[in-house]
Amino acid sequence: MADHAAGGNPSRKVERPMKITRIFAHRVQLPLHEGSYQWSGGKAVSVFDSTIIGVETACGCVGHGEVCPLGPSYLPAYSAGVRAGLQELAPHLMGADPRELGKVNQRMDAALKGHPYVKSGIDMACWDIVGQATGLPVCTLLGGRFGDSVRLYRAISQLSAQEMAANVSRYRDQGYTRFQLKVGGDPDEDIDRIRQARACLRPTDRLVADANTGWTQHEAMRVVRAVRDLDVYIEQPCLTYDECLAVRRQTDHPFVLDENIDSLNMLLRAKADWAMDVVNLKISKLGGLTRTAQARDLCVSMGIAMTLEDSWGGDITTAAIAHLAHSTPEEFRFTSTDFNSYVTVSNASGAPQRDNGGMRASTEPGLGIKPRAEVIGPRVLEVTQ
Ligand code: MG
Repeated sequence: MADHAAGGNPSRKVERPMKITRIFAHRVQLPLHEGSYQWSGGKAVSVFDSTIIGVETACGCVGHGEVCPLGPSYLPAYSAGVRAGLQELAPHLMGADPRELGKVNQRMDAALKGHPYVKSGIDMACWDIVGQATGLPVCTLLGGRFGDSVRLYRAISQLSAQEMAANVSRYRDQGYTRFQLKVGGDPDEDIDRIRQARACLRPTDRLVADANTGWTQHEAMRVVRAVRDLDVYIEQPCLTYDECLAVRRQTDHPFVLDENIDSLNMLLRAKADWAMDVVNLKISKLGGLTRTAQARDLCVSMGIAMTLEDSWGGDITTAAIAHLAHSTPEEFRFTSTDFNSYVTVSNASGAPQRDNGGMRASTEPGLGIKPRAEVIGPRVLEVTQ
């Protein structure tokens, strides 16, 4: 009223500066309910090594992020590298305004070339701060909440065809309708794995055979021909983009690219080549929520559906995935996953919990999570202004 009387604008707020004064990290071990997770080439992880990143401002606001590589031999990323990279990067971010995501990312790129997975946790934590500062959930800031819930897939660890089919049935009974079968092993066994898994499913369920780069080109051709009669998507059959493209051009199965799509350049190239029907965007593969949302928005404009997820993680990663996915138009959401249901440890409260094969982004400000102090333990890294 005083403002009105004085002729001022009552909606005008004075913008208070916000500055990063501290960046810290915790290391959390995440064992798996199933004991281990296996995929192509005999690769396996039994306990995930996750890093929780905190970004703190002068006014006492703290945002959190999480980065958890799928072991050291999946993508060019490893757990100790997250922490070494943070030590390198953090001093360059002191004094930056965490709400200015474009400038924060530019500072990170100027200070450290490449290493997108290192930057991912800081970017995620800054989004958490922006949400807290504005009182809005991250999914609102990323475009708005589309639909009631985000449909989830379940990754089926590589085992015998029979065991994998049994796991598909078990997880279908828990409400999942999308399954990502870890193949990329012996092609004859993989053909059997795909056949047995598909036989367990309803016609409306989606099955993806994800080779995670594990087949040579001729092996991939043999598998796609042998399962030609089945309703199955083929994901990242071979190591290189060119090999995948060659397979893609000789099969009519819906096709997903993942490991090769690590930049906007690759996304545009794959679109120009008609190299995929669905693309898998992982938050840490692209360098954080800012960069992944940029790729996501481009995919929406280009008409490409997406699997929106990360390499792995616990509650904080799952919360970030939920915000990213929930803010994506439903017709472009192929699947996402709830990593926090695969692991035995909960590293934060407030994270989405699976409900009948779906999850929902929190309606609380920011990511809507609170790390559990008793689980995440002491800080293993701290950089202050
Ligand atoms: Mg994949």
